[in-house]
Amino acid sequence: MKHTLVVSCGIMFLSSFAPAQARPFPGSDVEQIYQRLLPRVEKIPAFDHHAHPGFSDDADVDAMAAPPNASAALRTRDDNPELIAAAKALFEYPYADFSPEHAKYLIAKKAELKKQHPGVAYFNMILDKINTESSVANRAMMPDYLDGKRFPWVFFADAFMWPFNNERETARNPDEGVFIPLQEKMLRRWMQQEKLSTLPAKLDGYLDFIAHVLVDNQKKGGIAMKFEVAYFRPTTFSDPTRQRAETIYQQYASGGVPSEKDYRTFQDYIFRYLVEEGGRSHLPVHIHSAVGIGDYFNLSQSNVMNLESVLRDPRYHGTTFVLIHGGYPLEREAVWLAAMKNVYLDSSFGELAQYPSAFKDTLKMWLETFPDKITFGTDCFPYNEVLGAEESYWLGAESSRMALAAALAEMVSENEVSEGRALELAHAYLHDNAVKLYEGRVH
Ligand SMILES: [Zn+2]
Repeated sequence: MKHTLVVSCGIMFLSSFAPAQARPFPGSDVEQIYQRLLPRVEKIPAFDHHAHPGFSDDADVDAMAAPPNASAALRTRDDNPELIAAAKALFEYPYADFSPEHAKYLIAKKAELKKQHPGVAYFNMILDKINTESSVANRAMMPDYLDGKRFPWVFFADAFMWPFNNERETARNPDEGVFIPLQEKMLRRWMQQEKLSTLPAKLDGYLDFIAHVLVDNQKKGGIAMKFEVAYFRPTTFSDPTRQRAETIYQQYASGGVPSEKDYRTFQDYIFRYLVEEGGRSHLPVHIHSAVGIGDYFNLSQSNVMNLESVLRDPRYHGTTFVLIHGGYPLEREAVWLAAMKNVYLDSSFGELAQYPSAFKDTLKMWLETFPDKITFGTDCFPYNEVLGAEESYWLGAESSRMALAAALAEMVSENEVSEGRALELAHAYLHDNAVKLYEGRVH
């Protein structure tokens, strides 16, 4: 093939492919290109932008818990046979099933490795095995067994929106019966951290308390705040005045069940306050933007596009937003929100909910739209005593790298980008785009 110097948008680069119109189908070379790209993609040290590392008996891996008997999509069930491949790759698991007898091997093997790699060394060793340089730990609190240098903390900010009597909120459905008490628990922990035994009497004092938690969490290593508000209420946010929020706060801070309308109005004010504080204090705002666990998760009320009025509001241009899970299954719409300079997408969960053949199409569409605004994440989570965050990390990372190499191979074969450019895009997605957001605080 001819080497051509292409001048595009003022940037000059050497291209190994002939500039011609892109074609609609990959050629017969696509498999070969994939085989060339995959090992190079696997060598790129990754930054995992969304994960819940920890052991299965650690209640702090998330601020909430899965509701009992919740439906799980096929690939995310703990009987997914791909998890056997994960156990083989990480722990030399010698069996082809997870029968209770065989599963004992895995429990014993992990216990032995924890002895050989004590303290923070165990999970650092897991990251080394999957070639992840650093992984966000989106957790209620950080444990002493994760290395803060490789597991930067993303803490939860939702609890500030539920300070009143939550009888009505908890009774809405069985899922909220699990979720809302955990928000109350989280708020109590923030109050303990700030040595508050009761809520401040006035809104000013309450906002002050929130600001102190943000500052203290940053001092403890927090790099971003996370909302999973879509699990608890619709993600349409009105724009109430401070006066209105003050009136509601004074009425209910010391007791009484607010009407749904009043409660949501107050929450809308707090959400916007946190978004502004995120900009002021350089704490990017992560927002769960996809379907969620639990049978009562309301997809239409938490549609990622509901966030558009906040994301495109010029008042918040100083706040960096990360749409966790990239709006899945509405990721096609969601990528256009990244037109805003301060809005990024994270692909985690998409790579676990979908098989690589489908996730490849998601990534390709994103890479073809805003390749500088998309970030890699696994959403790893400990399944149970046998299958942990380790196997989940492996499956998420392997699936993402395969889908990425496949998407890029198609783009090269279809004459959209050169192979050199494809590798630059791989680095950007797996590592560089996310790291840039944190202004030197992560690597
Ligand atoms: Zn998550």
